[in-house]
Amino acid sequence: MTDEQRAFPAQQQDPPGWTGQMSPRPDHGEESYRGSGRLVGRRALVTGGDSGIGRAVVIAFAREGADVAISYLPEEQQDAEEAARWVREAGRTVALLPGDITDEATARALPERAAEALGGLDVVVNNAGFQMARRESIEDVTTAEIDRVLKTNLYALLWVTQSALPFLKEGSAVINNSSIQAYQPSTSLVDYASTKAAINNLTVNLAAELGPRGIRVNAVAPGPIWTPLQPATQPEEKLASFGQDTPLGRAGQPAEVAPAFVFLASSSEASYVSGTVLGVTGGKPVF
Ligand code: NAD
Ligand code: MG
Repeated sequence: MTDEQRAFPAQQQDPPGWTGQMSPRPDHGEESYRGSGRLVGRRALVTGGDSGIGRAVVIAFAREGADVAISYLPEEQQDAEEAARWVREAGRTVALLPGDITDEATARALPERAAEALGGLDVVVNNAGFQMARRESIEDVTTAEIDRVLKTNLYALLWVTQSALPFLKEGSAVINNSSIQAYQPSTSLVDYASTKAAINNLTVNLAAELGPRGIRVNAVAPGPIWTPLQPATQPEEKLASFGQDTPLGRAGQPAEVAPAFVFLASSSEASYVSGTVLGVTGGKPVF
């Protein structure tokens, strides 16, 4: 396939972005993911589980036997309903938890809401994230953008993780969504990239503190993945060639990232894996 054939059609959305407006539609594993009982009986909270990588994780977790609580922004209700539909189709329980996690009380309440709905909580996936790349220079970055990026990506991760601890126990897992931006920062994503480097640092630190309690903490660092975040925050001219600068020469699909989360969530397969960052980058280095 040539670069031209791989190019994404021109499109733009306002944040947070919606799956239904994307062309082509992302692949969340709806037709391809086969579970093998790796998460039977686990109860998971997935922030940002309505769309993109989060939706692929939700579908994979449910097909592996987990019940899932999905956190998302109220304006993403339609995407959340679609993600929930696949969980029910897999025969598992789903809880929908709308709310803006840049608000401390909302973020802190999520683990309890999830545990109430699912009868407990074993896995926390801190996947929600925000970026803004429609800018030329650090001089264009506004305080409102810095607030939104840092609160969504860092504050909320800390709030949710803290509030989840009373529910987590031996065998539980926390999985954070990092990024290739932690290693190869783009100038247009100066604030976002710094949060992803911080998430890697937090992952190692939390693994050190929570290891003695039998709780594993890891991160996944995706490369360029075709999700609503991209048409909602990248300038149109960058979108066409999105992902073509990777060794594999293309953007990844959410379905290609979800198995890394399944592995890290599984207490049989990843029982001795903690404090690590697993790259799913199309070949870009994560060191
Ligand atoms: P996405 O837009 O589908 O998912 C992000 C989700 O975050 C949204 O659906 C939304 O529900 C949630 N969110 C954002 N702000 C929120 C808020 N204030 N309150 C509640 N929820 C909020 O896009 P995605 O690409 O799947 O993003 C998921 C994660 O993957 C993010 O952490 C992102 O940084 C990371 N990531 C994405 C890429 C990529 O290329 N798409 C690459 C590396 C890392
Ligand atoms: Mg969404």
